[in-house]
Amino acid sequence: MDFELNEEQQQLRHTVREFAEHEIRPHVMEWDEAAQFPLQTIKELGKLGLLGSIFPPEYGGADMGYIEYATAIEELSRVDGSIGIIVAAHTSLCSNHLYLAGSETQKRRYLPRLASGEFLGAWGLTEPGSGSDAGSARMAAERKGDCWVLNGTKTFCTNGHYADVIVVLAVTDRSARTHGLSAFILEKDTPGFRPGKKENKLGLRASDTSELIFEDCVVPAANLVGHEGDGFMDAMRVLDGGRISIASMALGMAQGAYEAALKYSKQRRQFGRPISDFQAIQWKLADMATEIDAARLLTQRAAWLKDNGRKTTLESSMAKLYAGEVAVRAANECVQIHGGYGLIKDYPAEKFYRDVKLCTIGEGTSEIQRMVIARQLLKD
Ligand SMILES: Cc1cc2nc3c(=O)[nH]c(=O)nc-3n(C[C@H](O)[C@H](O)[C@H](O)COP(=O)(O)OP(=O)(O)OC[C@H]3O[C@@H](n4cnc5c(N)ncnc54)[C@H](O)[C@@H]3O)c2cc1C
Repeated sequence: MDFELNEEQQQLRHTVREFAEHEIRPHVMEWDEAAQFPLQTIKELGKLGLLGSIFPPEYGGADMGYIEYATAIEELSRVDGSIGIIVAAHTSLCSNHLYLAGSETQKRRYLPRLASGEFLGAWGLTEPGSGSDAGSARMAAERKGDCWVLNGTKTFCTNGHYADVIVVLAVTDRSARTHGLSAFILEKDTPGFRPGKKENKLGLRASDTSELIFEDCVVPAANLVGHEGDGFMDAMRVLDGGRISIASMALGMAQGAYEAALKYSKQRRQFGRPISDFQAIQWKLADMATEIDAARLLTQRAAWLKDNGRKTTLESSMAKLYAGEVAVRAANECVQIHGGYGLIKDYPAEKFYRDVKLCTIGEGTSEIQRMVIARQLLKD
């Protein structure tokens, strides 16, 4: 057993941290307040190999593993969770669905462009009427000759307005329920497709969360990803990896909130002493640091299992559930330690408080993670 990152992994953490400090931190509040999508910065991450980190070189990837990917998402999110979610949706949802279930032709056509940042990816599963119950999706795909015709609406799609390629789930056989869902590749300029409402959000405001509208949108039969009817099962495999990235995002934001709280507690003086002298504040910091460490161990275990080709449904959900809840608690305590200044936008506390909430909701709410975990525990 080895609890340390190896030299290369530590170097990666250092490189991503430097990038985040110099290229992201100076713009964080400006992007947040204007809800401005940082497209240029995302393209730069492509040049660093961080948009295809988990894929092999034959598909343009950096040939790293989930440990490295999780480390990069954590470091980006430590400074800005919006960058974390943009990279996560692009990599472990869109690109990874193509990698896991796509044909060789699809992989060669899309993955190198996604890995380099030439293309931005998105993944559309959620619909206005089907969130946690993703199997009840309504969006339809009807076979007509050598094409599929897509009709329906997706909602809450990360990168929806900016994506060049979207993997989207639609019903090909309504009677088969979850075995009647299939995945399709959509290129952004396809007639009959348009991004719809761009959501105005509480947090992660620099990321884009959009509706996707399909009206008689015709895609070639070759755009079916995997086998017809396997879309839901493939999506669940995709989420096993995706949940590691949300856990990493949560971890990064929790770490950022903890560091901000620690720094402030040493600077702020009340009753003639730094507030870090008070046991009440020390215990908050101790709890934050302990929980963050535990969340990191769970996340790295899930990433390690994934890198070793093991099934991670249980471990990914445990990591995502725990890290998400820890991040919410850490951001809450960060605001508390900042007192009134915790509400003021000159300090990072209020943004962490707004941004972390997604981590208990996206890619399966905390309630759904508990269902997944319990199902795994009870299945034998
Ligand atoms: C910022 C953001 C980005 C997102 N990005 C994407 C994306 O890129 N692609 C995508 O497809 N989706 C995306 N989503 C959607 C996200 O995955 C869903 O919001 C999430 O799965 C929950 O679905 P819902 O919002 O419909 O809530 P609902 O499913 O309606 O849940 C409402 C409440 O009921 C609870 N609940 C539901 N069912 C049960 C149950 N059986 N037992 C107990 N409690 C239950 C939930 O836990 C929750 O508390 C994104 C969402 C957000 C906010």
